[in-house]
Amino acid sequence: MADKKNLRTPIVCVMGHVDHGKTTLLDKIRGTAIASGEAGAITQHIGATEVPIDVIVSKLRDPKLRDRFIVPGLLFIDTPGHHAFTTLRSRGGALADLAVVVVDINEGFKPQTYESLQILKRFRTPFVVVANKIDKIGGWVPHKDLPFAATFKKQSGDVQARLETKLYEVIGELYNQGFSADRYDRVTNFQKTLGVVPVSAFTGEGIPDVLMVLLGLAQKFLEANLRYSATGPGVGTVLEVKEEKGLGTTLDIILYDGTLKKGDTVVIGSLGEPIQTKVRALLKPRELSEIHYESKFKQVSKVTAAAGVKISAPGLEGALAGSPIRVATEETLDEIVAQIKSEIDEVRIDTDSEGIMIKADTLGSLEALVHEFQKDEIPIRKAEVGDISHRDAVEASTVEDPIYSVIVGFNVKVHPDARDFLQESNVKVFTSDVIYRLVEDYQKYVKEQQEQAE
Ligand code: GDP
Repeated sequence: MADKKNLRTPIVCVMGHVDHGKTTLLDKIRGTAIASGEAGAITQHIGATEVPIDVIVSKLRDPKLRDRFIVPGLLFIDTPGHHAFTTLRSRGGALADLAVVVVDINEGFKPQTYESLQILKRFRTPFVVVANKIDKIGGWVPHKDLPFAATFKKQSGDVQARLETKLYEVIGELYNQGFSADRYDRVTNFQKTLGVVPVSAFTGEGIPDVLMVLLGLAQKFLEANLRYSATGPGVGTVLEVKEEKGLGTTLDIILYDGTLKKGDTVVIGSLGEPIQTKVRALLKPRELSEIHYESKFKQVSKVTAAAGVKISAPGLEGALAGSPIRVATEETLDEIVAQIKSEIDEVRIDTDSEGIMIKADTLGSLEALVHEFQKDEIPIRKAEVGDISHRDAVEASTVEDPIYSVIVGFNVKVHPDARDFLQESNVKVFTSDVIYRLVEDYQKYVKEQQEQAE
């Protein structure tokens, strides 16, 4: 068994269709941990919440389980959605080690459910499926915060049967998507079969089970990947570029390797040359007991992976969300700058050839979008992070072929001057926050154009 000291906390992302209960689930997991009442039971990070193993195990009411797990806990990214997942990239893949896909058991699969599954398949991320809102099944008698087996036993036979029926609809859909799946307590090998946990994010029923399955997945799949050197130079991903009162531009980052200290020289991706700067302050959220302080943040001198932290430093304007951030020394600086530049250039596209223009809000979402369009062999002329500008509009309007005189925008705004220009032009603009809807809409448009031409 691996040495505990070498393991960092696995990073978990919650995905799924809008309104299926991602936020409620995250709140409940946070609440569960807070309600357990132990001092320091959870640690609030910037953009993430850490639930330590002791809290998870205490929920399971079986202290013997404690010894089975060597991971220190789970770090949940607070922003739900597959968007957060794709934003959070690390070199060579997804930053999240594990994921939870939430699906409303009464509604079944929806576009963003399919999309989450596709993304996870592509990144080979282990995940668990939460069949949420079981309390809405007719006749369900809620029981707060119980593990699933206990709450299930307390239901009448009819209600149990109704749950099973709906659950097997979810499992059937997963099969249709190419996953072998089963109710999690019937799964013997989680590497082969996806576990589906019936949950009510509302009442907390089934949540201890979700945490347990995640721990099991972490343990089995991740021992090799979870090693980190606490003394090594920090490596992270920018979650958000944010203006803060009195601090100017700050970065919310997730550190997934090594240590980051106040005063460290860091290199961060931007649209131009990578930013080189010195960390002025590392900020974490204040504890609830400290809210009488004026600032929401407290300073820390260092953080160790995995952690979410806010960085204040000069010259952060222009930093790219989703881009890497790395600690550099005098010796490694040039190499790291070159690496980060090439990592960003790998995702961006800038050609004069025929093809569409793609704009996205983060480097990770741009990469996901480019991947989806390239998969369908749709040529791309330009792919860039940022809102749709007047310049983009003008550039797209110079393309003659209507199927390429197109701008596809993911989670971006259209600047007012670009909007005016676009209204007068023949440029077709597609915007959405669902990747595969953009691909579908574009393909539909191409078909229409071709039919018209015939
Ligand atoms: P998100 O868009 O996926 O983050 O979904 P939310 O967490 O915002 O939930 C959408 C709605 O469903 C809200 O009104 C929640 O209160 C409700 N909801 C979430 N989970 C449950 C649940 O387990 N049971 C019931 N009855 N309602 C839920």
